[in-house]
Amino acid sequence: MHIEEYEEDIYTCNRTRCGFCRNECPVYQEKGFESYSCRGKMLIARGLLEGVLKPSKELLDCVNLCATCNYCGSRCALRNVEIIEALRADLVEAGFKDQYHERIIEGIKRNGNPYLKPRNEREIWAKDIPFSKSADTLLYAGCTYPYIFPDWLRTTAQTLTGIGLKLNCLGNDEYCCGNLMLTTGFLEDFTETGKKNIEAFRKAGVKRIVTGCPGCYKIFAEDYPKHFSNFDIEVEHITQLVAKLIDEGKIKPTKPVNSIVTYHDPCHLGRHMRVTEDPRKILSSIPGLELVEMEHNRFDAKCCGAGGGMMAAYPEVAVKIAEKRIKEAEATGAEMLVTICPICEFNFDRAIRYTDSKIKLVDLMELLKKAI
Ligand code: SF4
Ligand code: SF4
Repeated sequence: MHIEEYEEDIYTCNRTRCGFCRNECPVYQEKGFESYSCRGKMLIARGLLEGVLKPSKELLDCVNLCATCNYCGSRCALRNVEIIEALRADLVEAGFKDQYHERIIEGIKRNGNPYLKPRNEREIWAKDIPFSKSADTLLYAGCTYPYIFPDWLRTTAQTLTGIGLKLNCLGNDEYCCGNLMLTTGFLEDFTETGKKNIEAFRKAGVKRIVTGCPGCYKIFAEDYPKHFSNFDIEVEHITQLVAKLIDEGKIKPTKPVNSIVTYHDPCHLGRHMRVTEDPRKILSSIPGLELVEMEHNRFDAKCCGAGGGMMAAYPEVAVKIAEKRIKEAEATGAEMLVTICPICEFNFDRAIRYTDSKIKLVDLMELLKKAI
């Protein structure tokens, strides 16, 4: 069992049972049952370790209802999200798979993306962008941006190549990073995907990956080095690169954007990867823009509800969580909610429509483009 690796953590929690992880767990707040909190999941892990519990469809629901937001991890010294992912992997190996996750993963294996879209449509967004096949920095598009938000990618690529940066792009040869496979417990598929990606990067001479999707960023920067000993590529999130370029005077936001905005920290960028200040630095470089913080920001930011396979398997819970975050954004009086995660944007867009909110959802790079 994969959870055996975390036995010490699991028993530490079971002896402590402090419950700090429950306070702001978005799923626990929504469902109200112990088994949906991290503490409850640790109890399930112990039950499985000791053979008191057997894998079942009901357990799968308890374990899969988690946005992997890492709020519990920020309140606890244990490896909370890793344990939840290990629990999922054990259930998948025991034959208990969520039907929506399984369908998406089969789609990734067939088409290279989770949206059941044709592989040869992946690079449509990149038409006429002056990419360079000899560049050793790869702009990794990910799956959601090219298929769902292609304009974002065009804007970002135009901004970066427009200042003379040499970037490569794998186009239709790019493949999903495997984040959903790892986080939902489909470990074998994740391993295959990782190997395939590393080989493609090696063939293209990639030394550095820049990506805009926090999920892709986390998986390459944190999980690939843990799972693949031959992965030695430097990984940067787009906000880290752009903040540096602003500091160096290579990107100059000069056109005022007179607006009050609030910024949502995507969990995988902020709490998981500790990138909270670069996006704010980009915002503060835009003349005329006023940033007002939500009550929960940076490492304390509330989750959008969509991560960890939640949007696919439990869309109604995911949107309820997003609706709460939209309310928090509205309470700041901001006209715009800015973020930089395609999954958060997808879910917030639904929540804004469902609640008839007047707040405007804007991607950080698109906002920056208006100012340069
Ligand atoms: S997971 Fe961590 S914070 Fe939650 S009850 Fe266990 S020890 Fe406490
Ligand atoms: S990762 Fe987030 S949703 Fe999952 S148990 Fe921890 S706090 Fe709750």
